[in-house]
Amino acid sequence: MSSTVAETLAEVRRRFTEGGIADPATDARLLVAGLLKLSSTELLTRSAEKLSREQAGEILKALERRLAHEPVHRILGEREFYGLPLGLSAETLEPRPDTEILVDTVLVYLKDLAKAEGHLHILDVGTGTGAICLALLSECPEASGIGSDISSDALRTAKSNAERNGLQDRFQAVQSKWFGNIQGSFHAIVSNPPYIASNVIHDLAPEVTKFDPVAALDGGPDGLDAYRAIAKDAASFMRPNGVVGLEIGYDQRDDVTAIFEAKGFRCLKSVKDYGQNDRVLVF
Ligand code: GLN
Repeated sequence: MSSTVAETLAEVRRRFTEGGIADPATDARLLVAGLLKLSSTELLTRSAEKLSREQAGEILKALERRLAHEPVHRILGEREFYGLPLGLSAETLEPRPDTEILVDTVLVYLKDLAKAEGHLHILDVGTGTGAICLALLSECPEASGIGSDISSDALRTAKSNAERNGLQDRFQAVQSKWFGNIQGSFHAIVSNPPYIASNVIHDLAPEVTKFDPVAALDGGPDGLDAYRAIAKDAASFMRPNGVVGLEIGYDQRDDVTAIFEAKGFRCLKSVKDYGQNDRVLVF
């Protein structure tokens, strides 16, 4: 392993390129900056500084993990979502940039509702790291929220993420399968539930199949089980003027719309992701 920051960066990038990592330059920068606790600017301005032996060793270990397909942010144990630093753990899906579109979309409705209602109450079903709920709370000072999850590991992570971002007074973590242990009525019910059909999970990149928890991906035989479960009971947990905001798989818009329409919901909005796939629905 080379000894200055710049040499280390170049070496990591070279090993990632050789190892067939999809975006070697970005991943090398994120990993080296993250482990050395440098900003992307400091990576340049401090490029001539020498690494300690411990730092070099740590980077070497992380490099091997990335070459075994572990995503950079799993190795670092955290990532940013909607400007919030969030810790990850074994049973939480790593939040994706596309999910920020769900936050943006739901915020428009919440800002309107806040004018009429004053206080807002949000439920994030299957909250994982807490990403969606915490991002909404950080943007809506008049809101409080519940993040529910079946996994106690996820709930611990969501709670600590709320504390880390100073949102703990407005965030409650509740262990629940769908609406099983939920009480209250909400202005927004949001979710990025598992939506991959069971038999295609193994076709996803090893970064996903080996490191994201399968429970956060597996949507049952046709990928739609979670939407059926949410549609079945959502109406009983909603304020009259509330909305349901969902992330969906790229080919699920019509099916999810049909599932919700069959329960008396009306589709208010459909939004595409950065790859021009259908990704978000609001009912
Ligand atoms: N978007 C995730 C993926 O990488 C799936 C997330 C989910 O099932 N909610 O495939």
